[in-house]
Amino acid sequence: MGQLNKNKLLKNLLHMSRQHRDMINIMPLQTGSLLTSAAKEALIEFGDGYSVCDFCLGSLVNIPSPPIKDFVHELLPPFLGADIATITHGAREGIFIIMHSLTHPGDSIIVDRNRHYTTTVAAESLGLNLIKVPNSGYPEFKIDVNDYIPLIEEHKPSMLLLTYPDGSYGNLPDAVKLGEIASKYNIPYIVNGAYSVGRMPVNMTEIGADFIIGSAHKSMASAGPCGVLGMKEKWQEIVLRKSKSHKNKEIELLGCTLRGVPLVTLMASFPHVMERVNLWNEQVDKAQWFSSELGKIGFIQLGEKPHKHDLLAFETPIFYEISQHIRERGYFLYKELEERGIWGPQPGMTKTTKVSSFAASREQLEYVVDSFRTIINKYS
Ligand SMILES: *Cc1c(COP(=O)(O)O)cnc(C)c1O
Repeated sequence: MGQLNKNKLLKNLLHMSRQHRDMINIMPLQTGSLLTSAAKEALIEFGDGYSVCDFCLGSLVNIPSPPIKDFVHELLPPFLGADIATITHGAREGIFIIMHSLTHPGDSIIVDRNRHYTTTVAAESLGLNLIKVPNSGYPEFKIDVNDYIPLIEEHKPSMLLLTYPDGSYGNLPDAVKLGEIASKYNIPYIVNGAYSVGRMPVNMTEIGADFIIGSAHKSMASAGPCGVLGMKEKWQEIVLRKSKSHKNKEIELLGCTLRGVPLVTLMASFPHVMERVNLWNEQVDKAQWFSSELGKIGFIQLGEKPHKHDLLAFETPIFYEISQHIRERGYFLYKELEERGIWGPQPGMTKTTKVSSFAASREQLEYVVDSFRTIINKYS
């Protein structure tokens, strides 16, 4: 790379400098990951590479200072309702690690139709046969966990996975019921809680799952990439088995996962995250209220109604119509919102939109609804 390009890289990067930092954020990927001030401090303090490794005796999860050992072994398991917990690079890596330890190429696994694409890709890389439980289709796209039963009997799967909630509609299927089914057929059961762990109370044991996955940079106020993985004790010796040659190192984790800043942001935000899950009922009320307000201006909510999660998908035919006869096409919406201090719907998208009410207050969401209304009136 020439000198000019190097300078340009830095200039463009710093110019970007997250201009939407101080805006009202309703972008689903980001509302659960905004850093606490403690995490911002930790981010700077531990920014250098391998900063957590000063006092390592060979095992990342047993480092006493910073207090990784206490975090991973004392705080995390009860938070997840798990016997054992560990840290990963994210939800997808957690799912991959379990699949890789528990299946053989050619095995069938049963997943929900609303699963995240990374579940599909992980299965593909391991040569697994993905069997999909259908959803109810438009407009609610619900998963009925009873539909796992005939597929279990037909395919004799080596694993069940439920996305709880999914990242497209924010639907929360009956995870407890699937726990009963998994236990009856004695099949390992993974709950993908990328959008739940850190936002709402989720307890692996109460669900009756074998594994629970969280995404810390989606739902635990962390910089990431980082995630959490909880499991029943009996899986420890399989999933967290150690290398023969390096007795402190878990094979599936390639020895050590989070070797610095993502982990310290997760730990610094954790006290706050532990508290905020207790306010989940208020979050659900706020999401339902926001959805009904948007309904009044012509948004059509997809997914479960009444909704039980802050992730909300809508059809927005009015914005699509507008985009068809203006020069900016789909980008007008993003621009209009940005000018009003709102960061949310994906630039260019108008037919449907996904938003999250998790980070914004009711007053801010009222302003968001008013802004949508003003934009509609301006172009109609
Ligand atoms: C975002 C998301 C993921 C991926 O999370 P990472 O931590 O980035 O791997 C997986 N599953 C669901 C349901 C998600 O919403």
